Amino acid sequence: MLIGPSIQSCCFEIKDDVLEHFDSNHYNPSSNDKYKVDLQGWAIDQLVCSGLDREKINVINKCTYCLDTLYHSYRRNGTNAGRMYALAGWSN
Ligand SMILES: [Zn+2]
Repeated sequence: MLIGPSIQSCCFEIKDDVLEHFDSNHYNPSSNDKYKVDLQGWAIDQLVCSGLDREKINVINKCTYCLDTLYHSYRRNGTNAGRMYALAGWSN
């Protein structure tokens, strides 16, 4: 299992009006009714709760917002953002 690059908690900030949609174990207050969210940590917890072995989950924890020369980011560039694609497969 691989979790690819995504926006990280350094840059993914939400306001308290949508806070109820996020797991409280994966956000922290930042400033002025805003919170930083760890989406990859939340995804990992969900996968482990679903029965995946944590040791088998690899994570590329690069921030797509910060690394603007490497990745596209809708949050950074809005509708002008490029698109990233992923390929999923399974082997035994
Ligand atoms: Zn960042």
